[in-house]
Amino acid sequence: MIQEPKGKFVKIRCKCKNEQVVFGKAATPVHCLVCGEVLGTPTGGKTKFTVHPLEILK
Ligand SMILES: [Zn+2]
Repeated sequence: MIQEPKGKFVKIRCKCKNEQVVFGKAATPVHCLVCGEVLGTPTGGKTKFTVHPLEILK
């Protein structure tokens, strides 16, 4: 089985205004490092973000 190429990193901003860069295909839920808010959930492929990504990083 061929491994998929590594996903992109996405910059997101939480409600608490913390900005962080996360992997676009995280296998586990993405939490804000400051307040612990769930910012993204894994869907088996791409991470589904609950906030709008600010920037897609390559
Ligand atoms: Zn936060």
